[in-house]
Amino acid sequence: MITFDNVTKIYEKGQNPAIDHISLNIEKGEFVFIVGNSGSGKTTMIELMLKELSPTSGKITINGHNLNRMRSSRIAKYRRGIGVVFQDFRLLKDRNVYENVAFAQRVIEKPNRIIKKRVPEVLTLVGLATKYRSYPNELSGGEQQRVALARALVNRPDILLADEPTGNLDPKNSAEIMELLEEINMRGTTVVVVTHNREIVNKMKKRVIRLRKGVIVSDEQEGGYIED
Ligand code: ADP
Ligand code: MG
Repeated sequence: MITFDNVTKIYEKGQNPAIDHISLNIEKGEFVFIVGNSGSGKTTMIELMLKELSPTSGKITINGHNLNRMRSSRIAKYRRGIGVVFQDFRLLKDRNVYENVAFAQRVIEKPNRIIKKRVPEVLTLVGLATKYRSYPNELSGGEQQRVALARALVNRPDILLADEPTGNLDPKNSAEIMELLEEINMRGTTVVVVTHNREIVNKMKKRVIRLRKGVIVSDEQEGGYIED
């Protein structure tokens, strides 16, 4: 589903690589944590997967697409096939919950009758069915992240990427978001979560890929969070 073959990313000539000859393979249906200190290359990995960045060398294949060869005219469509969640939610502040989620369907020109059916479905999945009229500033951080998750999922992506999705949340909301990610994974979506949250990583017993200075230093099934 996700393959890195000897991938290196150097942002600026003379700098150390942000990602240094990384090879990895994530199968369809896996749930994977990527952990590591600040600056270890986690966000770079996510941006490479989204083709927001191109590798300096090496090959990336995602869901059958060779990203190195993808034409720029195809990139927007490719990205829409991947769900993404960020630490800072990135909701549209002037639109309510329903419209924030519906937006992701409107941009791909889904007919309104589909949107009307699908948006409540996905809001129910994240536990926000009753808040569809609320605006982001009327919601807690945990609720805002659920909206972001609903938006990421509304078009049924094969892959969900989350970059520090609980970075702005308290432990209770963090645990709830992670449970949702797990449920989404159990429904068949491949899930990759970048996180610093040691309690959650230790509790969930998933595959853990640990980066240090752009290099994979461990990759374990049912891994734990090891400090550097
Ligand atoms: P993490 O998400 O693990 O904190 P990043 O992937 O953001 O790490 O960064 C990895 C390395 O690449 C860091 O040394 C960082 O300073 C560098 N870096 C990230 N983005 C850029 C950029 N746009 N230009 C130059 N260097 C960058
Ligand atoms: Mg980061």
